[in-house]
Amino acid sequence: MERTRYLIVGAGVSGLAFADWLPEDDYLIVEAEDEIGGYCRTVRRDGFVWDYSGHFFHFRHPEIERYLVERMDGRVLRVERESRIWYANRFVDFPFQRNIDQLPEPEYEECLRGLRERGGEEGVRTFKDMLYARYGRGIAEKFLVPYNEKLYATNLARLDADAMGRFFPHVRAEEILEPKESGARVGYNATFTYPEGGAIQYVNALAKGLSAERLSLGERLVGVNLEHKEATTNKRRIRYDVLISTIPLVSLLDLSGLEPDRETLSHSKVLVFNLGFDDKGPRGLHWIYYPQRELSFYRVGFYDNIFGSARMSLYVEVGLPREADVSPDARGALKARVLTDLQTSGIVTGQTLVASHEVVLDPAYVHVTPRSIVEAAKRRAMLAEQGVHAIGRYGAWTYCSIEDNIVEARALAERLAAPS
Ligand SMILES: Cc1cc2nc3c(=O)[nH]c(=O)nc-3n(C[C@H](O)[C@H](O)[C@H](O)COP(=O)(O)OP(=O)(O)OC[C@H]3O[C@@H](n4cnc5c(N)ncnc54)[C@H](O)[C@@H]3O)c2cc1C
Repeated sequence: MERTRYLIVGAGVSGLAFADWLPEDDYLIVEAEDEIGGYCRTVRRDGFVWDYSGHFFHFRHPEIERYLVERMDGRVLRVERESRIWYANRFVDFPFQRNIDQLPEPEYEECLRGLRERGGEEGVRTFKDMLYARYGRGIAEKFLVPYNEKLYATNLARLDADAMGRFFPHVRAEEILEPKESGARVGYNATFTYPEGGAIQYVNALAKGLSAERLSLGERLVGVNLEHKEATTNKRRIRYDVLISTIPLVSLLDLSGLEPDRETLSHSKVLVFNLGFDDKGPRGLHWIYYPQRELSFYRVGFYDNIFGSARMSLYVEVGLPREADVSPDARGALKARVLTDLQTSGIVTGQTLVASHEVVLDPAYVHVTPRSIVEAAKRRAMLAEQGVHAIGRYGAWTYCSIEDNIVEARALAERLAAPS
């Protein structure tokens, strides 16, 4: 039987970052797909460059950004975000709660009334409570609740009040009422970077130092014997000292013979349609949020307005419950609906669709609930005691960015390699 000190499962950002930061080379990465990148993969088709879903980057650790950019070929674009919300047949600046003065007058008044009448934050337990308590009924019901219900494909009363962590653009009530500079951008991603070759370039930068014999593509983990520290893949059995798993926590538990609590560890999936057209659409916008329950998508992004290219190139994100049918027939029906909705909302105005690609991200948004936080922590601690470290967005069962994945993987590599 083969053996390795570190068996890394998954060649997405987390697995590659762990390998990259490991100061020794006694490791093996097994990746089920035939290419690296996980959710950060990029597709090129008919002159269009699309990610698996709009992936934009906001680095908080300049040394990580420098590290990646130094290893990259091609330019990285730095972009000032232009994002809008489609509401009442007009565009409202993002975030909604900071820009209610752009709503029709009666709706603006309703939001102000809601703000004045909102209850205190004591007793807030869920994400839905938080939205009402902090922003009042008007803002919650016009945008925050319907939009996030579409994104998470669940009842927001299930989610933890801090389910989105720093990714939620909080605004204080006093700020909402203050006059503001026009064009002021709020939120963690007011400027973002994007490589000209797509998100995969960050992944390739991480993989640069990797030797080919340490990476096995098309090799899927199918079982783990925790007691004997033995992994079974579709190709062989491998003995390990330490297993680094970046696959979804529920899958890892399953493969290890530990019954996952699927009720508690629930999630949404996202069906992404990448659509290329023969002509330009709206100019200057990078993405638009759609709270309307009758529209199939919650967000539409414009790669052409990031690249400055001449043909409309969209990613369209549709949030679905975990159990939703995503068979080819169901996807075909949804694509037809998406194309109609793009017309209804004024994005497609006569352009012809010339290329398309679709991908299901499953899981996409983990439902961070008070119970899931406890359950994931308990299971991960129990696995860690047996030399199995579940990391990454889905390994750790959380909401985070690729930079967070790199920070986590780097810290673990340094900790495990440090002399004890
Ligand atoms: C809709 C959406 C939009 C996002 N937008 C952004 C953004 O703009 N900016 C940002 O920073 N982040 C964004 N993210 C988050 C980002 O995609 C993730 O944080 C990151 O890609 C996670 O990387 P990972 O390596 O932890 O997991 P993954 O990318 O999921 O990698 C896991 C790998 O494991 C492999 N695998 C699975 N099962 C097995 C098995 N049994 N055996 C072997 N291999 C297996 C998979 O094929 C995959 O390659 C977004 C996520 C979503 C869902």
